[in-house]
Amino acid sequence: MPATSMEELVSLCKRRGFIFQGSEIYGGLQGFYDYGPLGVELKNNIKAAWWRANVYERDDMEGLDASIIMHRQVLRHSGHEATFSDPMIDNRKNNKRYRLDHLVKDQKADVIAKVAEAMGQSAENFPAVVAALNASPAQASQALKDAGVRDPFSGEVGDWTEPKPFNMMFKTTIGPVADDESYGYLRPETAQGIFTNFKNVVDSTSRRLPFGIAQIGKAFRNEITPRNFIFRVRELEQMEIEFFVVPGTDEEWHEHWLERRLSWWEAQGVPRSKIEILDVPKEDLAHYSKRTYDLMYDYPTLGHEEIEGIANRSDYDLGSHTKNQSELGLVANVEENLDSIAKLTIPHPETNKPVVPFVIEPSAGVDRALLAVLSEAFTKETLENGNERIVLKLRPHLAPIKVAVIPLARNKAELVELARSIKNDLQKLGLGRILLEDSGNIGKAYRRHDEVGTPYCVTVDFDTIGQSGADRGEDASLTGTVTVRDRDTLAQERVKISELTAYLQAKLK
Ligand code: ATP
Repeated sequence: MPATSMEELVSLCKRRGFIFQGSEIYGGLQGFYDYGPLGVELKNNIKAAWWRANVYERDDMEGLDASIIMHRQVLRHSGHEATFSDPMIDNRKNNKRYRLDHLVKDQKADVIAKVAEAMGQSAENFPAVVAALNASPAQASQALKDAGVRDPFSGEVGDWTEPKPFNMMFKTTIGPVADDESYGYLRPETAQGIFTNFKNVVDSTSRRLPFGIAQIGKAFRNEITPRNFIFRVRELEQMEIEFFVVPGTDEEWHEHWLERRLSWWEAQGVPRSKIEILDVPKEDLAHYSKRTYDLMYDYPTLGHEEIEGIANRSDYDLGSHTKNQSELGLVANVEENLDSIAKLTIPHPETNKPVVPFVIEPSAGVDRALLAVLSEAFTKETLENGNERIVLKLRPHLAPIKVAVIPLARNKAELVELARSIKNDLQKLGLGRILLEDSGNIGKAYRRHDEVGTPYCVTVDFDTIGQSGADRGEDASLTGTVTVRDRDTLAQERVKISELTAYLQAKLK
């Protein structure tokens, strides 16, 4: 049974060192989280699994790592300066600020119905209600007051201002000159670094259509109300592909990527049955999108929320970063660009004429992925003896620690040394982190490793040295046996130390 509430996950993450509040010792910074000793391993493993599947296992992909701070012209021509905003609304009574759609969505059903009615919409079509509120700010303010929309902080009906757009990009000054022009943006999506490097990658790799560029990296969004743990943060990490195709083949490729991405989630232990595919309504599409599928994972407590967006970005971005677009027959309606120095085109594979390709973009959040993976793996079980245990049934390739090697007694140097040498041998296999767990109490060690999802525990006990004839001067690492405990079945098997690496390598493959 996966986790049933967000609280269970938050508590496990803190208790076992997956995730901590950012800047915690100064009271915390809202919307920022730090990944602890186990969190960083899990995160790295998720990213490695994504990279493997999308770069190494394909023949039509290149990788990239572009810089985080970008020229302001990039974000201007991408459309983010003008449109990357969320509707913000204030309560005059206590000066609290909310994201309009979140505020309304979290009200009781009868209040939402009243707001919808006042805006001439059906409550069933929530995106249309939000669109109507945005389109008529004065009417929206009145509708919220009349419907009795409550402030989530005070619980009282608010005195609501007119909603207005709030741009979510973080702006920063660059260099020691503080004139009005010396600023840039922290990228709000990794995608723009791929578009601006399109020509560099094509020229340096001789790629032809169709092909993709993959990137994993940080993105920053000054969310009005960060919330729900790592689900909505201000500093996030994305795993993005921009897949460039011949215009006209884009719809087919969009379906291809939908399928590929769903099967990747399945391989990480996030089943299709828990993901709803939302064909995003036209009025809700981002400014660059021709069509978008949002993958909506059923998060504990939150319900179905976006874990990944798969957008058909048409020729919008490459077109808008291109100088003198007029002769290129762009489909997306982009403004003439006189600032750029580039022509982001590629020869059409049949006609050889320069063409601005269409782009399919699967864009997944690492933080949201980690939350979904944890939630699916989280299991509470009642054992035969009536005891309860929490176990993270993570797929082995994602487990932060692959094997814990435990000497039965921490004060017995012989046991500890043998455990250390077993650990060192296993570490050489390159499977990921192997841990020497010499905290002393075997019961506690098993409980801890169940909770953090370690697939196997190897215990070195007195039999190991006894059997080996260490007292007769024999080498325990050649002749002794150890106990291997399986996290999921709890089965314990005696395995010869000389056969242990092959045994675990096969199990963890
Ligand atoms: P939402 O509607 O939830 O704000 P979005 O539609 O703005 O998300 P995209 O712009 O499509 O999100 O970003 C791609 C992916 O990046 C999302 O599917 C999500 O996994 C991740 N992501 C976006 N914003 C955040 C955030 N504030 N915190 C954590 N992850 C995020």
